[in-house]
Parts: sequence; C-alpha cells; structure tokens
Amino acid sequence: MKILILGGIKEAASLAGKLVAEGHDVTSSLAGRTKEPKPIKGKVRIGGFGGINGLVEYIKTNDIELLIDCTHPFARQISANAIEASKLANIKLEIHSRAPWEKQPNDLWLEVNTLEEARENIPKNACILLALGRQYIDLFKTRKDVFFLVRMVDQPEHALPLSNHKLLLGKPSSNWRDEKRVLEENTITHIVCRNSGGTGAYAKIEAARNMQIPVIMISR
Ligand code: NAP
Repeated sequence: MKILILGGIKEAASLAGKLVAEGHDVTSSLAGRTKEPKPIKGKVRIGGFGGINGLVEYIKTNDIELLIDCTHPFARQISANAIEASKLANIKLEIHSRAPWEKQPNDLWLEVNTLEEARENIPKNACILLALGRQYIDLFKTRKDVFFLVRMVDQPEHALPLSNHKLLLGKPSSNWRDEKRVLEENTITHIVCRNSGGTGAYAKIEAARNMQIPVIMISR
C-alpha cells in the first residue's frame, strides 16, 4: 500500500520501519521542528502541508491509500486535520495514540488541565524543570519570581523570554539516575510537564518519584 505516516515521534519511526519491512511504500511526514531528525526507513517529507486542503492535495497527488496519524498526543492541530483530510480524500485513517502515564503510589503529582493552570500552581520562588516545547514557554514569562531550567533538543532561534532561566541542550536521558543528577545539580523543586506517555521522557518522572519532587502534570 501507499502509506503516509504523520510522525515526529519515536513510535512513528518504528512503525515506518515495520511497514517498509512488510513491503509497503511508506512516506513519513515531519513538521520540521527538529534540525537533525534521526534517519527513518522509507521516504521522508518535511514541513506543513498548508492545512486540511494541502493535506488532501498531497494525498491525492501521491495516490496515498492509507493515512496513519502517529503524532505526539499534544499535536492536536495536525490530528484534527488528518481526520478531516481523510474524509475529504476518502481514504482510511488509522490513529495510533500513546497511552498516558499513570500515577504511581509514590508519585507527587498535581494534575492540571491547562498550561495556565500549571503556571498558576507553581509555588512562589520555585526552581522548575520546565519540560515543554519552545512554543509553550512564553506563557511562563510572567512568573518572574521563578527559576526555570528549560531543556531543548536544538538551540532556540530567539532568546527565551524568561527572566531567570538556564537552557539545557539535548534530549532527556532514558536513565532516571541521569535525570536525578540534573534535578539535583539545578536544585529543582518542581517539574512542569505534560502527560505525553511513552518511554522517551519518562525517566524524569521516575527521578522525581525517587526524590519526592512534586510534578505539575498537564493532563491530556
Ligand atoms: P500541531 O500543533 O498539531 O500542528 C501545527 C501545524 O504543524 C499543523 O497544522 C501542520 O501544518 C504542521 N504539522 C504538524 N505535524 C506535522 C507532521 N507530522 N507533518 C507535517 N506537518 C505537520 O503540531 P505540534 O504540536 O507543533 O507538533 C509538530 C510535530 O512535532 C508533530 O509531528 C508531532 O508529532 C511532533 N512532536 C510534537 C510534540 C509536542 O509536544 N507537541 C512533542 C514531540 C514531537 P499544516 O497545517 O501546514 O499542514
């Protein structure tokens, strides 16, 4: 089959590998947020389609028979576009969605529904590991009393708007002991993150559990 995978996460790359090995003609689509994405089996295209109509046009021009949404659970726009585009192009849509992390007995989670709620629940003068993408950081600039440790894969193009912060470049470790070291070295008192699920970003949650550090967890 000619398959288009909307990807951008580890699971999507694994899925592409599996489908290519089965003999399908697979194209993975990335938004282009990461400067040097890891190699993916099959074809890769990078950049937005130009909304629903652009995606429909891509599907039709390339004779795509199956669309798979394997994007990050918080990438809501592209998932909504995929639903509409698959209807308009009259092709099947498969949705692969990661399960959220489940709170364990020793976890100190404060579960909130929005970024704004997360911001308002940060205690005064806290030291926060802000584990969010670049596009969500601006909202936290009003918390001038707070120190933010911000981790990003690539150097941001513009200076972060946070008055008191440190930038940590690179991906999170999958080993909780490494994450614990990061939390200790930066005297982190709380973590702010989203309930992304998956294994890639879970080690910080395990480290927080081990250190009994509260996590302000933004729910799905
Ligand atoms: P989003 O808000 O849902 O999408 C915004 C726009 O970016 C879409 O309308 C689309 O532009 C383009 N886009 C998004 N994903 C695309 C893809 N896979 N291929 C081509 N265009 C795409 O998405 P987002 O939250 O910015 O996430 C962007 C990408 O990063 C996704 O692929 C996602 O899987 C990955 N990612 C996101 C997060 C996160 O925290 N949100 C974390 C890890 C990885 P057009 O309308 O022009 O088509």
